[in-house]
Amino acid sequence: MLRIILDQDDVLADTHGKLAQIVHTEFGLDLPEDTFSHQPFQAVLSDADQKKLYKIIHQKGFFTDIPVIKDAQEVVKALSEKYEVFVGTAAMEFPSSFREKYDWLQQHFPFIHWRNIVFCGDKSILHADYLIDDMPRNLKTFSGKGLLFNAPHNLQETGYERVMSWQEIATKLL
Ligand SMILES: [Mg+2]
Repeated sequence: MLRIILDQDDVLADTHGKLAQIVHTEFGLDLPEDTFSHQPFQAVLSDADQKKLYKIIHQKGFFTDIPVIKDAQEVVKALSEKYEVFVGTAAMEFPSSFREKYDWLQQHFPFIHWRNIVFCGDKSILHADYLIDDMPRNLKTFSGKGLLFNAPHNLQETGYERVMSWQEIATKLL
């Protein structure tokens, strides 16, 4: 069976969407609603507001209620019948997130066994046939086939095969 590694944030979980909502509701900036749908936070926020956002990610509970990205559950379930599916997430950057990220996976992807969940630091340690990730730096060091999951912070990247949605992943891999 071929192995697929799935990134968690901005591939399974709409972390960017949650952050955008926080900025819109709590930062008092009066920005157009679609401000962060086509550009990263760094393009809009001041250094001080970026720091504020980074602190929010570190707060207890941040990772508990992140929405699931559209169609991820159904497609990952179908993939797991055809491939060995792993979740590989760089959780070490936010050490307080481990429990929350694990519980989130149990809640929304209960069919992914704990043996198939990898919390790591540098993803260059990961080996598999496919990696689906929104961060070009993770695909850069990957020896298998990398798929770049479309996100507002990677729109300029042209070096990797881009997937726009879970439906597109289903078309490619199922
Ligand atoms: Mg990610």
